[in-house]
Amino acid sequence: MTKYVGPLPKLYVAKTIEDYVRNFWAQSDIYQLVKKEKLPCPKFYFLDGPPFPSSDTPHIGTCWNKVLKDSVIRYHRTKGFNVHDQPGYDCHGLPIELAVEQKFGVKTKKDIEQIGLEKFVTECREFATNNSISMTRTFQELGVWMDWASPYMTHDDSYIESDWWSLKQAWKNRLFEHGLRVVHWCPRDETVLSDYEVVLEYKVLRDPSIYVKFQLEAKDNEFVLIWTTTPWTLPSNVAVMVNPTAEYVKARHGNELLILARARVKSIEDKIHSKLEIVETFPGSKLEGLRYRSPLENLVLAQKQLENGHRVVLSEEYVTLDEGTGCVHSAPGHGEEDYEVGVRYHLPIVMLVNDQGKLVEDAGKYSGKSVREANPEIIEDLKTNGTLLYSEEIEHRSPVCWRCKTPLIIRATDQWIVRVAHLKDTLIKEVDETKWVPDWAGASQFTNWLANLKDWVVSRQRFWGTPLPVWTCRVCNEVQVVGSKEELLNGSTTSVNVPNLHVPWVDKVKLRCKCGGEMTRIPDVMVGWYDSGAASYASLGQPKHPELTKYWWPADFIVEGRDQISGWFFSLLKAGVVTMGTSPYKTVLMHGFVLDDKGREMHKSLGNYVTAQEVIQKFGRDIFRYYVLQTTIWEDLNFSWDAIKQYSGDLSTFWNTYVFASTYMNLDKFPPQRWPLKRLARSLRPEDKWLLSRTHHTIKEVTAAMDGYKIHEAVRKLKTFLVEDLSHTYVRCIRRRTWIERETATKHSAYATLYFALKSALVMMTPILPFITEAVYQNMFRNAESGNPETVHLLTWPVYEEKMISEELEAEMDAVKTITSTVALIRSEEALKQRQPVKRIIVASDSVIARNALRTYSDLLLEQLNTHALSCIGNAKRFKYDQTLRPRQFAKSSFPDGTVYIDLKLTAEMIAEGLARDIVRRIQQMRKEMDLKVDSFIEANVVVPQSMEKLLKTKRRYMARETRAKRLIISAEMRDARAGGFSKKWEINKENYELIIREMSTQKRRKTNR
Ligand SMILES: [Zn+2]
Ligand SMILES: [Zn+2]
Repeated sequence: MTKYVGPLPKLYVAKTIEDYVRNFWAQSDIYQLVKKEKLPCPKFYFLDGPPFPSSDTPHIGTCWNKVLKDSVIRYHRTKGFNVHDQPGYDCHGLPIELAVEQKFGVKTKKDIEQIGLEKFVTECREFATNNSISMTRTFQELGVWMDWASPYMTHDDSYIESDWWSLKQAWKNRLFEHGLRVVHWCPRDETVLSDYEVVLEYKVLRDPSIYVKFQLEAKDNEFVLIWTTTPWTLPSNVAVMVNPTAEYVKARHGNELLILARARVKSIEDKIHSKLEIVETFPGSKLEGLRYRSPLENLVLAQKQLENGHRVVLSEEYVTLDEGTGCVHSAPGHGEEDYEVGVRYHLPIVMLVNDQGKLVEDAGKYSGKSVREANPEIIEDLKTNGTLLYSEEIEHRSPVCWRCKTPLIIRATDQWIVRVAHLKDTLIKEVDETKWVPDWAGASQFTNWLANLKDWVVSRQRFWGTPLPVWTCRVCNEVQVVGSKEELLNGSTTSVNVPNLHVPWVDKVKLRCKCGGEMTRIPDVMVGWYDSGAASYASLGQPKHPELTKYWWPADFIVEGRDQISGWFFSLLKAGVVTMGTSPYKTVLMHGFVLDDKGREMHKSLGNYVTAQEVIQKFGRDIFRYYVLQTTIWEDLNFSWDAIKQYSGDLSTFWNTYVFASTYMNLDKFPPQRWPLKRLARSLRPEDKWLLSRTHHTIKEVTAAMDGYKIHEAVRKLKTFLVEDLSHTYVRCIRRRTWIERETATKHSAYATLYFALKSALVMMTPILPFITEAVYQNMFRNAESGNPETVHLLTWPVYEEKMISEELEAEMDAVKTITSTVALIRSEEALKQRQPVKRIIVASDSVIARNALRTYSDLLLEQLNTHALSCIGNAKRFKYDQTLRPRQFAKSSFPDGTVYIDLKLTAEMIAEGLARDIVRRIQQMRKEMDLKVDSFIEANVVVPQSMEKLLKTKRRYMARETRAKRLIISAEMRDARAGGFSKKWEINKENYELIIREMSTQKRRKTNR
């Protein structure tokens, strides 16, 4: 046992302790040592979900995420696994482009081209790199042990090559192709957005809502009535969709006949404040093929020249009768459903909006205007030509760009696609075979999301991303998908310098075409989600390191926030199935978000933004970890400083327990290896056996919780064990045994039990609290046994023995606690001090557990209840006692299983005992104030009232023993004339006492009988 000295404070001071540990780890390169030790162990592939390095300080939620990962990694190392722990950063993408745009003070893609792509892309790379370095620092601060020296960066050439390789595979398998797709588009960023980006952010927008009459061909006064909230799509109208099975009517309105769904008549009448007279009723199918004239044919060239359009088509699935007129204006260039029906009917696809969201030349009168500018003008024109029946404004939730908040538009564009829609059943099967924590994350949430699986649009019309490796020939339309840098440079027509595989350098490479022509790269880059989705194999260096992929793949474990159902979990799965044939992960853990104490998102503008650094500075690293890890993982964490303060009390409690244990074990030079529990089996007291049961029980529960990735459950079980069982219960039980000077078997049993419990707890705490556990280990455990490893993080996870768990002993200890607190209650009601011994205590109860508890723990109870006698009776006998006991000076109080009676009669002897204890406590307090070592001896003078002198002298030896006094003089006046000493006056039981204490000049070592 090393002496508890070292640089560590007696009271818990996070900063001192954690700085000491960080120094130790750095000086001895402990992380590498641990990794090396675990190399021969079975593999555990942890795959890091890469954060965006879009800011230099990680969000506190990202810190929670990393600490969760670290606890899982540490647990598996301790359990004996070789853990793959490479972190990653998702370096490409719009968020970084936007940050760099801001830095350069530019707004459009054209501006970027003016700055120069080389400069822009170089800046993006630097931005991502610098932020990743800064974020790494915070993660390391928090004690996150990952391979920070070599993270996977999605902008590295090796990573990009892996992306290219997988796309080439997909191309060969006819899973990668290009074609027209109706997509959500951000006109500010001039790029397509993914479906899962579209659902990220909505805004309530005010838009027009208009009812327009489309005149039937050759029928001057008959009209199909349509409804739209996007007048700017009317220049692209090609058809009207009706529901074939719904009932439609022809209704008279003034001189005109309007065609609409019967179910919508009432609603239209309400709007126009006029009756519609129904003249004919028929099913929607009757309307098929009817031709109409565009209301904008004289203003929009594309409408005038449209061929094979302007007719009524049928769609049962997309025409509902909940709103509008039941006649749906259809523009296949601006709506996914319209597009689908349009293809079915071979309708032309008209799309009149450019990348910036402005109407093009073919839009005639409206060309050059943004879609929102065009709206009022179109409405005005409809009014003028008499085709507008009614117009109003409505508010509705519409998707906006999650990065720049611009309202999105829908348009048909040419995109590159990875085909996955046909793999829906395979993906759902893979999800079924994955372990999800919590299980509903997979069973309902992810499966629901997959129900709407569509092909994956992987192209983006931006600059900072993995360039799509597609070269095309303008002469013969040949397409080549390039799978590696080598293939690229070998096929190049000239020798070019490509410092890295990004735009614009990669575009300088032209490839030779079979036809003799030259192939150039298409301008698109890859969506960032494909980068991160490829992580399971790209981070391993596939295809260049097949041996690594063979050893590690697939990932055993991933964990990310609940937003990743539609994000990374989804991308990983698609990329895994397309490229590797199966799901790339076995277990998925889903966590919540960090919000403020009122449940709002944290924003700098709201003033509620908290960083992990602040928590570290105010409370420490371990407390940050402890606080976030006790949160139910899949719920949101409402961050509260008050809660952190409370939790920090637990760490002080742990520390005090270790200080207590190491102090006394040091004093007694307790050698744990010489006194193993087995050797002491016969001298174990019931409370020792109880703690052993609790220890094995806790190992069992914590192991199950950690194996099931329910880390918060493990933390809570450990908290109960450390605070309730060890500190509040056991240490209190054994205080007197550790204070005895003689080396007895019962003292060794207490030490051996405590040592085993503490060491087991220590190992189980390492994944949660890596700092405090290391400090305690280095100062108390490391040299206590031979063969102990260099760091606490190389101890092995404890194994529980079922036969050591006793439900009876545990239940009985609970009963002891209840009875103890009931006695304390009576004492406080009767103003009877805890230190005043009583003659007897009677417990009346029919509970088997309570009665057994009194028998099992009788010695402990006598001591803790401070009574000379303790007996138990059945409830039936209670009635008699209730009647007769109280004249005989009994007090009582009830607990759920019975009643406790205390005999209040005190003899002179008992009063002396109580007084002696009062004085002992005060001398002990004074020893503390003098900062005496626990094993130093003193001389004490106790000046007492005359009336107490004789009585108290009977307890002199007891008092001397309890206070380590070599000389203890009790007198009614100051007899010891020697000057000096620490003196203090006390009032006890309303009488005056004076205590004078001196440390013995020659400190003798404590006698031992060893
Ligand atoms: Zn945008
Ligand atoms: Zn060619």
